[in-house]
Amino acid sequence: MLKLRNFKKWASDFDAYIKKAKVIVIASHRSPDGDNLGSSIALYHYLISLNKEVYFVDNDKVPSDYKFLPHIEARTSLTDLPSNVDLGIALDCSDLRRMGRETEAYFLKLPNIINIDHHRSNEAFGDLNIVADHLGSTGEVLYYLLKPLRINISPEIATGLYTAISSDTGSFQYDSVTSNTHRVIADLLDYHADQQLIVKNLYQSKTIPQIKLMGIAMSNVEFFSKDKIGFVSITRDDLRQAQADEMDTEGIVEMVRNIDTVELAIFLKEAENGIKISLRSKSYVDCTKIAEKFGGGGHIRASGALSHENIEQTREKIITYASEVI
Ligand code: 5GP
Ligand code: MN
Repeated sequence: MLKLRNFKKWASDFDAYIKKAKVIVIASHRSPDGDNLGSSIALYHYLISLNKEVYFVDNDKVPSDYKFLPHIEARTSLTDLPSNVDLGIALDCSDLRRMGRETEAYFLKLPNIINIDHHRSNEAFGDLNIVADHLGSTGEVLYYLLKPLRINISPEIATGLYTAISSDTGSFQYDSVTSNTHRVIADLLDYHADQQLIVKNLYQSKTIPQIKLMGIAMSNVEFFSKDKIGFVSITRDDLRQAQADEMDTEGIVEMVRNIDTVELAIFLKEAENGIKISLRSKSYVDCTKIAEKFGGGGHIRASGALSHENIEQTREKIITYASEVI
């Protein structure tokens, strides 16, 4: 509970920035996930309720699982933003580079930035930094930030926050989950978070190409270090074979981690801008140690990076590093 004390001061500072601002831009990292989109949408709805002019930057495609989020279609491309923006709010970004080059450059020119996040490696790039690395999701950070302001938590806000917390805790499985996480969720249900809509969209809406791709991936898992490392990659060819697109790989790395002997799951994806690395561990491997070798980062149990070498070279290197770490 002690660590929650910071939020009183953060909430009053946050409120002061919001009161001064008329036009506000929200942005998060590329390759959007449930925490990113859920917390951004929750904040969007809160600021709209205050009659602010609010924009949520469209810097990447929204995966189909998250299209149910209320007003997710209202995202705006950078080129359509007005010139008189007072405040930028970054959510779930350990650094501005994760927003993509154009959005980062745009944010750096804004008069004020608020940084709301839960990554240990957060670079404190904001004028106000609300970073709580003991919490499992940015959604939970945002909940504790809004709560002292005695705001009206609408069903849209509650649904956004619930989505964020559920997805970044692996549906309440990770060791970042505490009794407080469940208290927050209980409160959000009282505020009419649409739990069934969330469960259906996040966990029961896999498309046929996604399942086909999962099948290809699972039949190609390789094991190292007495089966403690599970490795899998998806190439452009695999995507074509499953008639899937780049966004359809969600859940693959978690599935590898589900294998009983596996402590560390490694997933490589041939993406447009390089080889996207995803790492997940179960009990003791610090994934950030491996991600940092490729200029990435994240959390102890879930990290990522982008490699600019080809897939074979990246595979060689990462298996070597991982075998040393394990
Ligand atoms: P994912 O494997 O789902 O893409 O990412 C897992 C976690 O790793 C994310 O929540 C994020 O914290 C971190 N992450 C992923 N990609 C990158 C990256 O390129 N740079 C950094 N610093 N962190 C990343
Ligand atoms: Mn997050």
